[in-house]
Amino acid sequence: PLSIVLLLFISCLMSIIGKLRPWTSLLPPELLSLDLATRLHIDPEITSLASTDFGKLVRVIPAAVLYPLSLDDIVALIRFSFRSSVPFGIAARGRGHSVRGQATAHKGVVVDMRSLDNDHNNGSRIIVDRSSPSVNNWYADVGCEQLWVDVLHATLEHGLAPRSWTDYLYLTVGGTLSNAGISGQSFRHGPQISNVYEMDVVTGRGELVTCSPQTNSELFYAVLGGLGQFGIITRARIALEPAPTKVRWVRLLYHDFIAFTRDQEHLISFNNGSEGIKGLDYVEGSLVMNQSPANNWRSSFFSPDDHSRIISLANEHGILYSLEVAKYYDDEVDGELEALLKGLSFIPDLIFAKDVSYIDFLNRVRSGELELQSQGLWDVPHPWLNLFVPKSRILDFDSGAFKGILRQNNKISGPILVYPMNRNKMSAVIPEEDIFYSIGLLLQSSGTHDWEHLEEQNTEILRFCEKAGIKIKQYLPRYQTKAEWVNHFGPKWDTFKQRKTKFDPKAILSPGQGVFTS
Ligand code: FAD
Repeated sequence: PLSIVLLLFISCLMSIIGKLRPWTSLLPPELLSLDLATRLHIDPEITSLASTDFGKLVRVIPAAVLYPLSLDDIVALIRFSFRSSVPFGIAARGRGHSVRGQATAHKGVVVDMRSLDNDHNNGSRIIVDRSSPSVNNWYADVGCEQLWVDVLHATLEHGLAPRSWTDYLYLTVGGTLSNAGISGQSFRHGPQISNVYEMDVVTGRGELVTCSPQTNSELFYAVLGGLGQFGIITRARIALEPAPTKVRWVRLLYHDFIAFTRDQEHLISFNNGSEGIKGLDYVEGSLVMNQSPANNWRSSFFSPDDHSRIISLANEHGILYSLEVAKYYDDEVDGELEALLKGLSFIPDLIFAKDVSYIDFLNRVRSGELELQSQGLWDVPHPWLNLFVPKSRILDFDSGAFKGILRQNNKISGPILVYPMNRNKMSAVIPEEDIFYSIGLLLQSSGTHDWEHLEEQNTEILRFCEKAGIKIKQYLPRYQTKAEWVNHFGPKWDTFKQRKTKFDPKAILSPGQGVFTS
């Protein structure tokens, strides 16, 4: 009997020791008493992975990373921090494809949203409903950790697809809904944030709330494009439309920026059947400078021979403008497309067209990514700059930034996008004009350290806009001071601040955006 007691005693002791884990002084030890404790990791290899992002420009180490099994873990974590006398920051991390540390939490907890896509939730994270007789009510209920590419595959099984996209599909639904989610379809349907019917959100008070334009509408509008400041989105009801089977995808080239922008503005004027014409489904311009196709993840359209010919045709500033358009179809597209492109001023013999499946069109930049990955050119610093420029000043921007500042850089790597959008479809922070241009300077460094000159170039472009009085707004910004944020939001700042006080009064959420400090 003595040996049995001894054995029991030893086994109890082992079980207590097993439960004792190394812990960090940065977080309250009471966190360990929560059910989620086993899914909280403080190991340096794990916190280090969550300390940086796609941009590779900043490194902010969290105290711990939570791999939630279900949304109860997220509710419990936020509620704990909210009720704690020393609240700590909590950042949802989707795919970590921000570029300036927006998904980090200094000394706080990063919630790895992707781990919600686990066996526990298997099969229940994308549910398509097309039971309504009206196409306007077809939707998918999607877990916000899902990648858009997976949403596409799941909805296509029902012959449906979301209406609005980003160029790149390996981003999470929660990540893009926290910003806007824009691409060449935005002129027609608005950004992704304009195509959501309802969401489940865990607020900064740790309350799980369902919101929509009809119910808890303030939270709904705060969270969409809200930079993660008001709640962690756990589910979004995304608007769907019947998916086409094919896409006619066309590239037109221009010498002249005035013709290039005039044609883009003309093409986006046919949106949603205006003037009785259905119009194009996608319009996205870009610059062709001295980029090599080898380091541009969007250049898969042209063959290497075409590429050399095109580069040799650049204007006196070394620039050619490329207009990429697409028309979705099932049976016949020639007549309609011809009518739409009639009268445009592109270089006549430089028209490239191909027919691709809808899925290949939407996932068009993936092959470029894989190519760059294989060459070790994907995981390098990306000091990206995204701007919205009012239409009335786009020619000035072209002269000063493209033909001026960028021209001095004789080694451009990465795409430079220039395409217009309609104000009436957009609810994010944008310039005060009906039409504005989205400019994406998506440049990358050639190695792990060689990026400072690109940051200097960005600063020079911003300084130029300020001096020239071009009232730009940044997309995906990361400002350092409160004054810059106040200026960014302009008249929307007071509402933004009031909503923060209401939904996340202890400034727990998404501290990596740097909008509020705890
Ligand atoms: P993360 O970087 O993980 O998070 C971004 C922010 O959202 C953080 O503040 C985070 O805390 C918060 N967040 C994440 N998930 C949630 C959630 N569920 N609830 C609340 N807050 C959350 N953008 C476009 O608009 N159009 C494009 O075409 C486009 N193309 C891109 C291509 C590439 C290669 C890359 C790297 C980025 C691109 N982006 C584009 C930018 C991208 O949309 C944003 O950076 C987006 O935030 C990335 O999604 P993510 O899942 O990686 O988010």
